[in-house]
Amino acid sequence: MASARLVRATMVALPSAVCVYRCSSGSNSASALRPAFHRRFVAVSACASAEGSSPAGGFTNNSPQPVSSVRISRKQQRAQSARVVSQQSSTRVTEENAGGSEYEAVIGIETHVQLATATKAFCSCPSQYGSEPNANVCPICMGLPGCLPVLNEKCVEFGVRLGLALHSDIALKSKFDRKQYFYPDLPKGYQISQFDIPIASNGFLEVDLPVECGGGHKRFGITRVHMEEDAGKLIHAGADQLSGSTHSQVDLNRAGVPLLEIVSEPDMRTGLEAAEYAAELQRTVRYLGVGNGNMQEGSMRCDVNISVRPKGRAQFGTKVEIKNMNSFSAMQRAIEYEFERQVQLIDEGEGDKIVQETRLWEEAAQRTTTMRKKEGLADYRYFPEPDLPEVILNEEYIESVRATLPELPNEKRRRYETLGLSMQDILVLTNDIDVAAYFDAVLEKGGDVKMAANWIMGDITAYLKNEKQSITELKLTPPTLAELIGLIKDGTISGKIAKEILPELLESGASAKSIVEKKGLLQISDVATIEKMIDEVLEKNSSQLEAYRGGKTKLQGFFVGQVMKASGGKVNPALMNKLLIEKLNG
Ligand SMILES: [Zn+2]
Repeated sequence: MASARLVRATMVALPSAVCVYRCSSGSNSASALRPAFHRRFVAVSACASAEGSSPAGGFTNNSPQPVSSVRISRKQQRAQSARVVSQQSSTRVTEENAGGSEYEAVIGIETHVQLATATKAFCSCPSQYGSEPNANVCPICMGLPGCLPVLNEKCVEFGVRLGLALHSDIALKSKFDRKQYFYPDLPKGYQISQFDIPIASNGFLEVDLPVECGGGHKRFGITRVHMEEDAGKLIHAGADQLSGSTHSQVDLNRAGVPLLEIVSEPDMRTGLEAAEYAAELQRTVRYLGVGNGNMQEGSMRCDVNISVRPKGRAQFGTKVEIKNMNSFSAMQRAIEYEFERQVQLIDEGEGDKIVQETRLWEEAAQRTTTMRKKEGLADYRYFPEPDLPEVILNEEYIESVRATLPELPNEKRRRYETLGLSMQDILVLTNDIDVAAYFDAVLEKGGDVKMAANWIMGDITAYLKNEKQSITELKLTPPTLAELIGLIKDGTISGKIAKEILPELLESGASAKSIVEKKGLLQISDVATIEKMIDEVLEKNSSQLEAYRGGKTKLQGFFVGQVMKASGGKVNPALMNKLLIEKLNG
């Protein structure tokens, strides 16, 4: 606490953003300032594999490689037909294509997830998003000399939590390492990360692909999950990026914010699979409550590694990293673009132009462009962080964390399947944990499965969208929806009347029964009351009754109409018909 107070005192004199350097004539020095932001373990693995070929984004390449069919766009199909011609005239490409005429993408993803802890990883500064620049900083996260980091225990808990949810092995003994690189948003000159012993490794994530895209169930390998801290953020003045800016300012609010980095195996083969993997990871993070997974705020960032190879060939092509995608659909489009670009280069005999580099996805232009070449892999000179003790866990602790895991998205989907719901409905209902919890609560109160699903996905979702509300803010509670469904099911009200009173239920949160009663919409199902109504109608229409009994049975419809009218349309039609026939024939 003493150090936290010291922080405030120190910070009073600081400007809202610290100016760190000036660029001379807007020099394009981004790559000079920041060595390739690439992990050394990839470098190690790349060295071990054949020259110019390394696993896309994986620490190891000995995992099973599920080969799925390549889903390609129409544009790509056209491009492929065109390629057949070029292949015939190119011996080199024909050789490369010995295994088949089609290419496939090999995709791995590195995801950074910001953790929903109250404070940063190694100091007591708040880790909230959206504060004034440099409002949440202290000597520790500013990297001032003489400060010692203290590990936030919640980071370990969240690491174990996500590791368990991803079916990983949890390391009983892991440690932190220093990853050295120089960049103005990294005040210490190194990032505290985990190098050779991550908190979790060797897991998997199960995904159900959207029905409209052909469906299917896939399992994608998780190489590792490790803990690390985030860097600060540079704000460039006079331009959106460093290039062309007059000067840059650094905001260290994000410095020291805890992250989990999740590295997948290179198991994805299409943009769709990659996007669905990332969406499932986001769902898992949200279900677990370890982070909000918000891509727009940068709370979840995905870097995609993609290489292309002829189908059937085991060796990987040269991988390219793509950054800067802030939605799953952007990720899918970026991969599809990059796949086509690389295939085209190979087909045109210019495969050597595919170089190991980082490319940026340009949303406006719908293309990837070179951000920096990876000329020689950076040496981060990892070594164990001397200021932090090893992270030693025991089985008891791990089991105590496991006991708090919620039902995970995949488990929920499997359970909903047993309820008889379609996969399309299941994917909608389980996408958001709050929607799934609402649905479960309706079922718990006895609501019919299919009716509950339809009400939630239909009228209620439309209302929430319109009112920009989340389902947790809804006044119509799960017990009330279950009650409404019950009223329809037992014939108390018709589905039409239920839709009529829905707006009032959504606005007032009153019970369905009370509204039905207040408005006199209750269906009349009491035998004595209906019989009394029928008797009155028959008495008033004695001549028609005589005609009916004389053989003019078509008049039954007339009597039905009369009784309906007398009841104000509220009489239970089936029951009334039965009683009416008895009376008419009696
Ligand atoms: Zn701090």
